[in-house]
Amino acid sequence: MKVENPTLFIIFGGSGDLAHRKLYPALFNLYRNGYINEKFAVIGTARRDWSDDFFRDTVKESLKKFCEDEKTVDEFIGHFYYQSHDVNDSEHYIILKKLAQKLNDQYELEDNRVYYMAIAPSLFGTVAGHIKSEDLMTKNGFNRLVIEKPFGHDFESAKALNDEISQTFDEQQIYRIDHYLGKEMVQNIPVLRFNNPVFETIWNKDYISNVQVTLAESLGVEERGGYYDGTGALRDMVQNHIMQILAQLTMEKPNEFTSQKVHESKKALFASLKMLTPDEVDANFVRGQYGTNQNQTQISYREGLNIDPDSETETYVAGKVMFDNDTFKGVPFYVRTGKRMPEKSTRIDIVFKKEVKNIFPTLDTDAIKENVFSIIIEPDQGYELLMNGTKVGMNFETTAFDMAYKHTNAQLDQVPEAYERLLINVLDGDQTNFTHWDELLSTWKYIDVIRQKWDETPISFPNYRSGSVGPKDADELLSKDGNSWFWQG
Ligand code: NAD
Repeated sequence: MKVENPTLFIIFGGSGDLAHRKLYPALFNLYRNGYINEKFAVIGTARRDWSDDFFRDTVKESLKKFCEDEKTVDEFIGHFYYQSHDVNDSEHYIILKKLAQKLNDQYELEDNRVYYMAIAPSLFGTVAGHIKSEDLMTKNGFNRLVIEKPFGHDFESAKALNDEISQTFDEQQIYRIDHYLGKEMVQNIPVLRFNNPVFETIWNKDYISNVQVTLAESLGVEERGGYYDGTGALRDMVQNHIMQILAQLTMEKPNEFTSQKVHESKKALFASLKMLTPDEVDANFVRGQYGTNQNQTQISYREGLNIDPDSETETYVAGKVMFDNDTFKGVPFYVRTGKRMPEKSTRIDIVFKKEVKNIFPTLDTDAIKENVFSIIIEPDQGYELLMNGTKVGMNFETTAFDMAYKHTNAQLDQVPEAYERLLINVLDGDQTNFTHWDELLSTWKYIDVIRQKWDETPISFPNYRSGSVGPKDADELLSKDGNSWFWQG
């Protein structure tokens, strides 16, 4: 497929980790697959004093493991330009503007611009302000801002940032990345719910007992301690990724799957999020921090690089989220995320209510299991359904069957990277899979109550071992409701 998407990408933070690990490979795949062709150019900006050639070599290096076809890579990197740039220096934006105009004419880019913030969040507002004051926005084409997480660290700071960028860009021009919304199986959820009457009819409080969302990582914080210790799992994973997964699972069916209708549906959903009072936090949310593993071969969180040895930062969160709406009133949505869990696994387990009336006199009611429908997001991708049936043989005995579907390895090879999909969406002007300000506003307010309560309450850490499924309290969170975690690692 070949489509013309004439665009100038201006990447602030063009020498950084995100740009090299995610953006350049994603852009390269768009090029290879014909989403961008001759009419595109990239300006990478960063503080260092690099030449175009040096910059191109760094981009080439980042593509090494994706492509052996040197000719295509060379053609691709020929579209890359470098601009040494200090975000606070107005002069640099004027130079940048001139380069942007030159490339616009040279590559026939039709005044279309994507401004990508691959820089520290503290610089987002400054850059957006200069884009306005130094008049970088074009008049005829599109001007789209792509902004990375974290979008604020609480409601106040998120609002301040939003106010700042809104001086330059309006909501229709802002693409707030939540890369979970770029994942194949997360994008699949609405199709699964709304294109299968078999699920659509039972996706409500009448049939669902509880829903469990797990984002487990086997790795620890590794070298990201400096960032992580000031953030923690609640802000890093729950406020954004988990909340967006919950929205995919619970938003009312939009009458059309367009960006506007989907965001309206999500806004209504988050408005029904049952806010906790500070007094309710402890009964509904559990935090944890990993210690060493059983053999003591792994260091604990507090022993990590750039981490306060007395740190009370949580590397694990489990919580019970409720929605006050007609469809899900009373259904607990248990969520958890943690580092150094037994294995990497991102999954959703939907536990259905058990049929209580046993009409088979010879069958043992206790042997009947609850149906569980699982959406496996990564590293495998697929679905599982736990069902009841009879054992093979003369005896009329029940057994549970697991009906499982998995994408094959060949299919997995075809799955586009989240960033690739999201960049195509940006080029198409499709904001469906980006976070709207209304959603951030609600989710930050929800999270702030928990964060504030935790900040005021000292805790004894570490409280779970590396390689385990998390602290004991997380099991009690469910057992006191008569439930238990389906995924046990
Ligand atoms: P990084 O430190 O590797 O890169 C930062 C970039 O910003 C560099 O190019 C640096 O030169 C530039 N920069 C810093 N100060 C500057 C200044 N004063 N003027 C001009 N340029 C300046 O960071 P990163 O890991 O690439 O992260 C970039 C952004 O993406 C951050 O907002 C981060 O939260 C977000 N993010 C990163 C990842 C990831 O996997 N790396 C994942 C999710 C979100």
